[in-house]
Amino acid sequence: MTEWHKSDWRKKPRIQMPDYIDQAALEAVEAQLSKYPPLVFAGEARKLKAALGAASRGEAFLLQGGDCAESFDQFSANAIRDTFKVMLQMAMVLTYGAKVPVVKVGRMAGQFAKPRSAPTEVKDGFELPSYRGDIINELDFTPEARIPDPRKMLQAYTQAAATLNLLRAFSTGGYADVHQVHSWTLGFTEGDNAARYRDMASRIQDTLDFMKAAGIDSDREPNLQTVDFYTSHESLLLEYEEALCRQDSTSGKWLAGSGHMIWIGDRTRQPDGAHVEFARGVLNPVGLKCGPTTTAEDLKVLMNKLNPENEAGKLTLIARFGAGKVAEHLPRLIRAVQEEGANVLWVCDAMHGNTIKSSTGYKTRPFESVLREVRDFFGVHKAEGTIPGGVHFEMTGQDVTECTGGVYAVSEESLSDRYHTACDPRLNASQSLELAFLVAEELTA
Ligand code: PEP
Ligand code: MN
Repeated sequence: MTEWHKSDWRKKPRIQMPDYIDQAALEAVEAQLSKYPPLVFAGEARKLKAALGAASRGEAFLLQGGDCAESFDQFSANAIRDTFKVMLQMAMVLTYGAKVPVVKVGRMAGQFAKPRSAPTEVKDGFELPSYRGDIINELDFTPEARIPDPRKMLQAYTQAAATLNLLRAFSTGGYADVHQVHSWTLGFTEGDNAARYRDMASRIQDTLDFMKAAGIDSDREPNLQTVDFYTSHESLLLEYEEALCRQDSTSGKWLAGSGHMIWIGDRTRQPDGAHVEFARGVLNPVGLKCGPTTTAEDLKVLMNKLNPENEAGKLTLIARFGAGKVAEHLPRLIRAVQEEGANVLWVCDAMHGNTIKSSTGYKTRPFESVLREVRDFFGVHKAEGTIPGGVHFEMTGQDVTECTGGVYAVSEESLSDRYHTACDPRLNASQSLELAFLVAEELTA
């Protein structure tokens, strides 16, 4: 890798970042964050990289999911627990159904900053700067709320630290013990998916009982009592990222201390831009969103920049083309990867190419489109002889009505019932579980 310093991104063109007015306040926040402990540690990032490497070889499968944007308002232990719980359920469906270990990565504890399709928003004839996530400004449609405030980075850090603390406790403190497989159901997920899940949980319980009777004490097996749960977010607000960057004492390499995995969004993946410059220097696993406008030429340059040593697990390509567009774009990018002999993990983000406006005025995603994109992703990999290594969803454990369809058939009219997202529409718990069953089927097909 060519020389890199954590502040080199400042010399490159930046987009989708706020212009802070109060420079003194910004510098004070950066100085403060630079003294705070990192949220994650280098050994953990390396362990995740190894797990993603296994997924790239088809020996594991990545499940990455969580909010589009974490919010200060909706921050609660119950919300974190419920998303964690649905991810455990989905992972269990995949492990049991497809017999592969599942690498669990939340869009959590740092997923605050949002790229926007337009710099301003117009409502009732008024134009204001767009909302860019709670780490930058506020959702309220007032001029004051939309002023970027660097102090919000401190609140985001505190919330991320508390979130990660709870996730670590859930992962290792008994909650994620496989013997709890029955108790992870959520009250409201009755119906087909819940029944299917309970049936599987009973079969897992039977297996555990059998093992015990045969003299294998699964109660003492650490792999059954705890899970590894990792965090990830889009590395968009580079002042925050740089301030949490730390040099690893054992290797001398630089760690993005803000989360285990960071990714580059579809709007900020310019090979000579600030976001690629920052991400290319950190030791963490890095994700790269690939959309319909990603060219094979750019992808080749990006793969060489983001994974110069061609390490397995270092680079995850997150395909987000939209239902019906996968066959047009994925094969040409798979070929670019093959021409370079690059090690990558292919993951399907079935959300971001499928956002539409409902007739009732809500930003939504039809469940059928999400499902179709997942199916097409598996289909293309099968045809190309390559490995579909994971899925990426915007989802929540809350019983929201943000995406239409699913077994409960959320209609366009009912979107207003429980539409709570701060940004993009998320799958609810039932829709998430339904997808997990589908993915397990695709993996064994
Ligand atoms: C996101 O993951 O929330 C996002 C904005 O995705 P993309 O960059 O793929 O549009
Ligand atoms: Mn989103």
